[in-house]
Order: sequence, then structure tokens, then C-alpha cells
Amino acid sequence: MKIILATSNKGKVKEIKELWSEYEVVPYSELIEEFEIVEDAHTFKDNALLKARAVYKALGDKEAIVIADDSGISVDILKGEPGIYSARYAGAGASDKDNLYKLIKSVKDMGVISTPAHYTAAIAIIYKEKEYSVHGWMYGDVINETRGEKGFGYDPMFIPSGYNKTVAELDANIKSKLSHRSKALSLAKVIIESVQL
Ligand code: IMP
Repeated sequence: MKIILATSNKGKVKEIKELWSEYEVVPYSELIEEFEIVEDAHTFKDNALLKARAVYKALGDKEAIVIADDSGISVDILKGEPGIYSARYAGAGASDKDNLYKLIKSVKDMGVISTPAHYTAAIAIIYKEKEYSVHGWMYGDVINETRGEKGFGYDPMFIPSGYNKTVAELDANIKSKLSHRSKALSLAKVIIESVQL
């Protein structure tokens, strides 16, 4: 079964391909020219739906199964920031590293070395013009420094609950069991398998 991803974020594409190795997972940019999708909704779910709709429409194939992931990290002490703005926390066009170091600075400015946070992933699915959405979360703490080289984005500063290493220090197979994305994808899989019947 072919699943088209409405993203070209390398970190997400890599993880989704690994988690869904039983499917043929193809980023939409391999099928049509990449275009800008303005993510101006106010929730992870609505931003995921917006991306999935834009790609589904551009493909023009009702039988395509399109999924989009909108995700981010929310830090309690920062009133949930950066949240849906995680990809542009350090400004429009910011790199993952810029965003990571801005969040480290924000945590340092609060005078803490470790503080509760969580990742959210909303996955939107569109198939035969019908829309579905699911969520997954990973809870833990963010720290005021980076540790480790694995993963992407904010992983070097995020320690999942029950662990004493950052996601960037843990083996990828641990992240794939714990992560917001893997939890949302498990639910998405149930939907995809059931609508295919
Ligand atoms: P989106 O492409 O608008 O959904 O942006 C997601 C943002 O959240 C990016 O800045 C990512 O770096 C960050 N993010 C989402 N999921 C993860 C993850 O699993 N690890 C680290 N950062 C993540």
C-alpha cells in the first residue's frame, strides 16, 4: 500500500518510513513539485488537516492515501510555548538548531535546569475525500543544555519520563516505542486498515 506524506521534513520522513516499513511511504515532493503550505491554523490537528488537504488536492487522485504530521513541543513553564510554533520559534525560516538554542535560552531565562514538557503529534489522513485525525503525546522534561546527536529538532534537550537520557542519546528504537509520532501513527494505521476494507 502506498502512503503519500504531506511533508518534506527530513526528520519526520525518516521516522515515518522506519515506523511504517510495511507500507510504501513516499514524500509528496517525489511525485509533484514541492510548494509552500501556509500553516496558519491554531491547533496541531487543524494544521495537519490543512497540509493533508493541500497535498491531496494538488495530487488530484481521489484514491491516494495522504497523511500529514503536525507536531511540536510544549513547555509548561513557558505557558505551552513553542507549541504549534515549534518549527518557527526562532523566526520564519529558522533552522532546527536555531529553534533548539532559542528554547534552551528560554529555559535558562526561567532559571531552571530541567522542567516539564511534552511533544504532540497530530496526524491527518485523507482518503477518498474523507478526513480523519489522531493524536499522540510523549511526556518528559526539557533541560537547559543539549546532549546527544541522534533524532532531530528538540530531541537533544528532551528527556522522556522514566529515562535519564535525552532522546538524542537514546537508541532510535526506544524513541520509536515512546514517541508522540509512533503513538499517533499506530492509531492512524488502524484507520487506514479499516477504511481500506
Ligand atoms: P511542523 O513541520 O510544523 O509540524 O514542525 C514540527 C516542529 O516540531 C519542528 O521544529 C520539529 O523540529 C519539532 N518536532 C516535531 N517532532 C519532533 C521530534 O520528534 N523530535 C524533535 N523535534 C520535533
